[in-house]
Amino acid sequence: MKQELAILIRLQGIDLELRKINEEKSSAPKHLEDLQEDLSSKEAELDELNERITEIQKRKVDVEDEFELENVRLGKSQKKLSSLKTNREYQALQKEINEIKKANTDREDEILTIMEEISSLQGQIEERNKQVKQYRKQIRAEKKRVKEVEESLDAKIVTLTEERQAVSKDISPSLLSQYNFLKDRRDCVVVAAVTDGVCSACNMNIPPQLFNELLRDEKILTCPSCQRLIYALKVS
Ligand SMILES: [Zn+2]
Repeated sequence: MKQELAILIRLQGIDLELRKINEEKSSAPKHLEDLQEDLSSKEAELDELNERITEIQKRKVDVEDEFELENVRLGKSQKKLSSLKTNREYQALQKEINEIKKANTDREDEILTIMEEISSLQGQIEERNKQVKQYRKQIRAEKKRVKEVEESLDAKIVTLTEERQAVSKDISPSLLSQYNFLKDRRDCVVVAAVTDGVCSACNMNIPPQLFNELLRDEKILTCPSCQRLIYALKVS
């Protein structure tokens, strides 16, 4: 194999490693993003529960006020009852008294229902608050982990980039630019072995004449199908 090709294979190894590290780096915050999404949804639920509890607490105060006012009216009506002269007036007021009593019984029922809902909401709010706290704790730990992973990957990237520069110096500029051009278009695999006349990258046959030329190893050749730089690999 030509010396320059052997260097390109080393360069390709570095580039594949760099690609892998960059993929790891971009997927490192994935779990953190999931946790942040879960936290947001719990916080939204908490907001809704707090809104609901505020709303029904206000409703409870209103119903209690109405109950008190109607209770006062009931007392007055009951006092007035004994002073009435005619049976008709008595019956009319008695009917009104019954209606007030009925309406206030309904208010008492509503207040009880609201109190039950408040108690249930308070339980749910307490539960959500615990979950929110838990998520915040997990997020703090995960942020720390992601930062450590990223720092370690960045250090590897620096080392590999330096190594890449050093290796590149031993390759002619025209071959290097051909390599870089193919690298972006062939997913980092630029140099491919040809075994038994077949390109290992695209699995296409190399024409016999070209294959014979390849075996002579006099110059760097390219695969006619995928344009990758090829070399002959003999299998024993
Ligand atoms: Zn090929």
